[in-house]
Amino acid sequence: MLRRVYGYEAFRGLQASVIDDVMAGRDVLAVLPTGGGKSLCYQIPAMLREGVGIVVSPLIALMADQVDALKVLGVRAERLDSSMSFEAKTAALEAAARGEMDLLYLSPEALSTGLAGRLTRLPVSMLAIDEAHCVSQWGHDFRPDYRALGRLKQMFPGVPRIAVTATADERTREDILAQLALTDPATHVASFDRPNLTLGAEPKAGGRSDRVIALVRAHKGESGIVYAATRDGTETLAAALERTGIPALAYHAGLDAEVRAERQQRFLLEDGLTMCATVAFGMGVDKPDVRFVIHADPPKTLEAYWQEVGRAGRDGKPAEGFALFGPADMRRSISWTVDSDAAEEVKRVQLTKTRQLFAFFNGTECRRAAVRRYFGEADVTPCGDCDNCQRDPADGFDASRFAQMAVSAVIRCGQRIGRGRLIIHLLGQAKDGFDEDLQTLSTYGIGTDLSKQGWNAVFDELLFSGLLAEGGDVMRPVIIVPDADAAKALFRGDAQVWLRSDPNVRKRRRRERAASADMSLELSARDRELFDALRTWRLDTAKTKGVPPYVIFHDRTLAAIAQERPACQDSLRAISGVGEKKAGRYADEIARLVGEAA
Ligand code: ADP
Ligand code: ZN
Repeated sequence: MLRRVYGYEAFRGLQASVIDDVMAGRDVLAVLPTGGGKSLCYQIPAMLREGVGIVVSPLIALMADQVDALKVLGVRAERLDSSMSFEAKTAALEAAARGEMDLLYLSPEALSTGLAGRLTRLPVSMLAIDEAHCVSQWGHDFRPDYRALGRLKQMFPGVPRIAVTATADERTREDILAQLALTDPATHVASFDRPNLTLGAEPKAGGRSDRVIALVRAHKGESGIVYAATRDGTETLAAALERTGIPALAYHAGLDAEVRAERQQRFLLEDGLTMCATVAFGMGVDKPDVRFVIHADPPKTLEAYWQEVGRAGRDGKPAEGFALFGPADMRRSISWTVDSDAAEEVKRVQLTKTRQLFAFFNGTECRRAAVRRYFGEADVTPCGDCDNCQRDPADGFDASRFAQMAVSAVIRCGQRIGRGRLIIHLLGQAKDGFDEDLQTLSTYGIGTDLSKQGWNAVFDELLFSGLLAEGGDVMRPVIIVPDADAAKALFRGDAQVWLRSDPNVRKRRRRERAASADMSLELSARDRELFDALRTWRLDTAKTKGVPPYVIFHDRTLAAIAQERPACQDSLRAISGVGEKKAGRYADEIARLVGEAA
């Protein structure tokens, strides 16, 4: 089935063992990273087992894409959603009742409508619950309508259920098993390593747009996503990129549904477009050749981070994930949770997740290793590739003395002024008539060894590490000392504060890693010509069919075709990524292109 339908040579990672368990009729929980090939884990059993496989998926767009892609492969798949006519739904249900349907996709709401009765009368082969973490309030994307999925067990007694997700920590996993009441489930958790991702993060400094432009520039001609926290942010960044000649679009929930759909389509179809988006963009965007994901604002949790950067490099080729973060982001995230009307226990979990996220960004440990450990993997080794692994250890700077000055200034000044005033105080640069009462304190002007920038770096570090915190009004926060014992340890010299680099030395420009994954570079000049011709052909074909180009063939497959130059259907069939259906459909056209290239 893998070879015939999908044209792949071998199962990846845990796919085979997950499929074995579903085929044996067991309930299964499969946690595979984004791009790990989760869909195959239920699509193949659905085709092999008697009856129709039902797939519950949270997003209509996601379903539409999967169903389109399956149809191109010759799989009998349909979806049921509220936008369809009664006739279309009936036709799909009748085909399923006759045993002429492999997969039926539906949203969780559909199970609470009149359709439910008709669904339970179908010969159902298995039930798949996609994005299963949505069922748990311990996850990062809880959806109340997913709770209804607990009823699947009674609605379809004895039918094996497979829950799949890309992100679930231990607690969320247990909750998924409980909420869905999976019976004696087989749990498969894959490694969260993504060896082709090069990760990095740095504190926000002034001129965020310029930094983002520089990061995007390193990926000239490649597609990528820039995430921003606000609608305004996406618009500003897209405009800034456009001004420097980088094709970019904004995407957020404030845009018309039509505009959104059109922009998403352009992102999928065109090469070299940067999408500046809020998190409204992403689920269901499984474009395999996204080369970078830049967080201009940090994500909400490490789970969200891994899911979002996971949208880069699904084709397995090198890709970059880079995040900008600041103490104001942490504060916003914390007050957002505190002010929400979630239950106390949920709030506590979310606050911990926020702290872990910022500790991760600010930390100096290997990025990939840190994420894998967070998801419960043991014995992880440093990747050697991320910004922290690449950093020269000699760059580290013992800032304990400055940290002591900062913390005592905060205490002396009464924990009631903000960072800007504290830095002026430490530098002894108060203008006449400004904070005059503070000028008599012993901490006034003790910090002239450090520049203003340097002090900002020290305050960032102290805020992330929790030695200082922001309090008071959200808009005009004051700096406080939240933990007197930790401060005492610092004064005693029992605790040290390290900065990534000497804050007085001008920051050396981070080596721009052009993690170029331009596949054509691996090809000879002759093969590259054919590769380009194949891409043009693919784009035309995709446009005619109204599907994204990668649904026709991945770049990797086109590159292999350019090298192997298959002249007949059988030789085309031998190439990875070419199944029976596509070989039959495209062999002639490809043979023609190969012939013309000569
Ligand atoms: P996700 O786990 O993110 O849902 P998908 O199921 O969308 O991942 O798979 C990611 C990509 O990997 C798809 O393009 C899919 O066709 C491809 N893929 C899945 N399984 C294999 C395999 N065994 N060999 C090669 N490619 C595969
Ligand atoms: Zn690393």
